[in-house]
Amino acid sequence: MTDWSLPGTTVLDPKGRLALKLRAGQRLTIVDIKGQQVMDFIASMTENPDERLSAMFTRVSSGMWNLQQGYTIYSDRCTPMMKVVHDDNGIHNMTGGYCSKYSNAIRYGVEETWGCLDNLEGDWQELGLDPTKINPDQCISLFMNIRHHPDGRMEIVEPTTKPGDRITLEMLADVYVGLSNCPEEHNPCNAFNVTEMAVTVE
Ligand SMILES: [Zn+2]
Repeated sequence: MTDWSLPGTTVLDPKGRLALKLRAGQRLTIVDIKGQQVMDFIASMTENPDERLSAMFTRVSSGMWNLQQGYTIYSDRCTPMMKVVHDDNGIHNMTGGYCSKYSNAIRYGVEETWGCLDNLEGDWQELGLDPTKINPDQCISLFMNIRHHPDGRMEIVEPTTKPGDRITLEMLADVYVGLSNCPEEHNPCNAFNVTEMAVTVE
């Protein structure tokens, strides 16, 4: 049985990861130390890890493609999992998904790149969970900036975060959280310069 995470701050190296187990009422703050860096995260309920965070049901509840301060993050069974209690930036990708060697291969023709999926699988293994059960709807990409064009195109553009911008999530249930400091360097999602992120558990 994995231990509950203790309060404290961890600085994630570029391309680093962090696995957490948090109780309802705890707060999780992600700080973009240098700015323009994305953090992908997934979550599941501790009571039943097959009940996962759902980007789709979170969008359905708010009627927004974006995650913003005051919004609730829901599971795929519409259980409230977290609430955004502070947000300096206001731009977070909720189209679902994470970068991976598979998506990099079809988009950029590169093989065997390290992606958020590798990090998130490592997080799930560390927590004693089944990494094959991670799915793209389970992921929200904090600070990731996707432009939705009127003709239907989605374009990844550079984040607008400034150094020190943060988002704070309050847990509304006991949850597992996997964090990936996004390693993607083939598109502008990290402004072509991957940097450190700080994660604080309170
Ligand atoms: Zn990524």
